[in-house]
Amino acid sequence: MKRPAVFFDRDGTLMDEVDFCNDPAAVRALPGMKEALTELRNAGWLIFIITNQSGIARGKISSAQYEAVHKELLHQLDYQIDATYFCPDLPPSPRRKPQIGMVLDATRDFPVNLAQSYFVGDKEMDIECGKRSGMHSILVTSGYGDRYRDCGADYLFPDAVAAAKFILRGKFL
Ligand SMILES: [Mg+2]
Repeated sequence: MKRPAVFFDRDGTLMDEVDFCNDPAAVRALPGMKEALTELRNAGWLIFIITNQSGIARGKISSAQYEAVHKELLHQLDYQIDATYFCPDLPPSPRRKPQIGMVLDATRDFPVNLAQSYFVGDKEMDIECGKRSGMHSILVTSGYGDRYRDCGADYLFPDAVAAAKFILRGKFL
């Protein structure tokens, strides 16, 4: 049976925004996020990270640095993530948000019901990716989110923990 999922942007959403973060020591997961993800997974939600990492193609981050940063974040989140999809490409790329290639990758790997799923992010490209995929969209005003308040997201919350609590109160499960 297909399951609902929450697709999270990474930088500025699950962790503090750090421009082209290439140092694991700079990783700060959002306080309370680990617990919120655990609750979502216990309630039956699949959890994905969908992250644009053009810093790799731009030469600002090496693949090894990306891996080290991401490993540190997963550790801080107690590995409460089903899978991560990242796009190292420069725009335009069919995988890079706001395009939906990474979401389609997730639907190939897992039985996801997109119509019951949410995309949570701090940029218009996250909201656009969620909408194009047929999901509900949540803009968080952490990270860069404050400047995208009017981008047409279905819901607006101060951060991803508040968004997760809203989803947990929802009607789908
Ligand atoms: Mg972001």
